[in-house]
Amino acid sequence: MPELPEVETIRRSLLPLIKGQEITKIEIFHKDVLINEDQRPLQGWIIADLRRRGKYLMIDIISTDNKETGALLIVHFRMTGKLLYQTEQIKPSRHTHVRFHLEGDRPAWLDYEDVRRFGRIWLLPAGGESKNAGLAGLGPEPLSKAWTLADFQNIVNKSKAPIKSILLNQKVVAGVGNIYCDEALFRAKVLPARKADSLSTEEIKRLHEAVQYVIKEGIGHRGTSFRDYVDGLGGRGHFQQQLQVYQRAGEECKICGSEIAKVKVAGRGTHYCPRCQM
Ligand SMILES: [Zn+2]
Repeated sequence: MPELPEVETIRRSLLPLIKGQEITKIEIFHKDVLINEDQRPLQGWIIADLRRRGKYLMIDIISTDNKETGALLIVHFRMTGKLLYQTEQIKPSRHTHVRFHLEGDRPAWLDYEDVRRFGRIWLLPAGGESKNAGLAGLGPEPLSKAWTLADFQNIVNKSKAPIKSILLNQKVVAGVGNIYCDEALFRAKVLPARKADSLSTEEIKRLHEAVQYVIKEGIGHRGTSFRDYVDGLGGRGHFQQQLQVYQRAGEECKICGSEIAKVKVAGRGTHYCPRCQM
């Protein structure tokens, strides 16, 4: 599933290509994927900006005739969603669910593809992020000043849940999923199944820093491409080459040589080094 670094990479790859372009038509091949809560026509919009919150991509659109207020497209990629920019109109595949026809210097197409079809696109009035339950409930961005060590410490100290489930909770910190969670816990030398309230002040501080480090590195390497994830131009990320534990079960720890283990924590496949992490 695309996590914060992957969605941020998609945003950065698409922004210079589609900002300012007109959406002349939106074709929907699978009705359940695009939810038009605004009940407005699916044409006559100009893409004004692309933003990201957590794992959500937000496309701000304004009306071409300026008569109506703006609107907002929210994309949640879930497991296997992709937004792909094309300069040639290709035949839609059975996994192409929505196609945006774009008109700028030259025609282009933006396809939403999704093999598992769990992803969703919402069309809402401008400011609609406050009405989208998933988006409205998001906690602070990990790379923003709003995510303070003090707040994080407070939450961790009060919980008996496994520390991994705290990090995966989008209300605690937005955009961290399984990959970056396992990597941050390894870097902080903390076992994923540890009860949150058993972490020392020093461990919480290490974890707070580790989350920011792996998210930054993930963005720097244009995301992690294991199976499905690609950016808006179909390009793969490179962070998979930097991974210390995620998807490395049975392989040697790059630090101590022990075998990387895999267990289930918080319902998710969880990778860790039994010697480096305590
Ligand atoms: Zn190790």
